[in-house]
Amino acid sequence: MIPLETVLEVKRLLAEGRLSQGQIAKKLGISRTFVNFVNRGRLRTPLEARIKDAPDREPTPRRCPDCGALVYMPCIACRTRAYIAWQRRQQNHTTQS
Ligand SMILES: [Zn+2]
Repeated sequence: MIPLETVLEVKRLLAEGRLSQGQIAKKLGISRTFVNFVNRGRLRTPLEARIKDAPDREPTPRRCPDCGALVYMPCIACRTRAYIAWQRRQQNHTTQS
C-alpha cells in the first residue's frame, strides 16, 4: 500500500512539470503505473479533501531545510524518502532469512 505522502508528492511533481512520469517513479521508488494512475486523477477524493482541510499545512510552498525542494511543510519528499527507506529495510529483513 502506497502511503498518502507518496501520492501527494507524485501530484506535486506532476504539477511542477519538470520530471516525466518515469522520472518521478524512479525518484520516489514506485511504479510508473502508479504515477500514471495518480496523473489520471483516480486517487483523488478523500486525499484532496484532506489536503484542503489540513490545518497544519501552509497555504504556500516553502524551501525545505533538509532537501532544498519547494514544498508544503512538513516536507512530504523527506517523509516519503524516510518511509521508503524504512520499507526497504523491512523487505531486506524478510528476504535475508
Ligand atoms: Zn525535504
